[in-house]
Amino acid sequence: MRFPIGFTMAQAKHRTKMERSGQKRYPTVIMLEPLYTCNLACLGCSVERHTGKLVDRMPVADLLKAVDDCGAPIVNICGGEPTLYPELKELCEGIIVRGKYIILCTNALKLDTKVFDIIPPSPHLFLMIHLDGMRETHDYVCNRKGVFDKAVEMVKQARDRGYYTYLNTTVFKETNVSEVEDLCKLVDELKANGILISPGYEYESVDKEMFLTKDQIHEKFKAIREFSPRYKINATPMFLEFAAGMRELPCAPWSTVNYTPKGWKAPCYLVEGAGYFESWDEFWNKTNWEYWESRLDDKCQNCKMHSGFEHSAVSEAMKTVGGTIKLAAWSLSK
Ligand code: SF4
Repeated sequence: MRFPIGFTMAQAKHRTKMERSGQKRYPTVIMLEPLYTCNLACLGCSVERHTGKLVDRMPVADLLKAVDDCGAPIVNICGGEPTLYPELKELCEGIIVRGKYIILCTNALKLDTKVFDIIPPSPHLFLMIHLDGMRETHDYVCNRKGVFDKAVEMVKQARDRGYYTYLNTTVFKETNVSEVEDLCKLVDELKANGILISPGYEYESVDKEMFLTKDQIHEKFKAIREFSPRYKINATPMFLEFAAGMRELPCAPWSTVNYTPKGWKAPCYLVEGAGYFESWDEFWNKTNWEYWESRLDDKCQNCKMHSGFEHSAVSEAMKTVGGTIKLAAWSLSK
């Protein structure tokens, strides 16, 4: 299976419950950003996400309130680098006790000192390790030598210790598709649980030269889609068709909401300048979802992010019996 059965079922149950109660829009994932401090300064990362001070981190109680307020079954802990958050154990315990699933997005450098032997493996905890290429590329993107080797070592140790462990890779202009396939092979070699592949988002604060145009995204994802059946890639076939330019989808920014040190961020974690809200109700009711779904905004023109479109890809598939069967077969394979 692509994901453990409990995780897949929790999403399916949530979707059914929301739709039966007549909700057209609802979050399935909350991206929690407890801090904007990081031990790396990667080239494709928005500057504000790795330059914050630890002292400005969010209190655990506020983060758990955000989890409760939005009701999403999946909590993506990112940042910044979440293993630097001193209260990470308390936060994870608070989320798991609520029956939610955690995806801990990390560069892996501190897993041995901040996670192993401190936060035990759990069917509710998935480590999502950032690797943007093989050794030379990843160390270049991370601006530091040795990051790739350390991350690979941490994946091995995490699997030996029984943690669900996934890789997460971003495709940039310079990314060679054969290297993405090498990463997929590495997942098999390391006995990791899968890999998520997304095109990079063009942040305003980052050098534009490294990002793909829409045509380049389509070209690279056509090639990725061709080899995808051989590997444990955790993006649905419909999402890959969308990324390859073979189908259009509306955005569903409300499916992945974002809580940050500045408050709830509208409309999604990628767009700057559309506002932050202190309370959930204000964020949910005041954001013009219809506008952001349309993808007409300039900031959406080149966006093909998993967080915005995977929900729409699944909804589209489930409109037909054939699509539902294809989706179920994909979930159960690998
Ligand atoms: S298209 Fe991308 S940038 Fe625009 S709202 Fe959707 S996820 Fe955000």
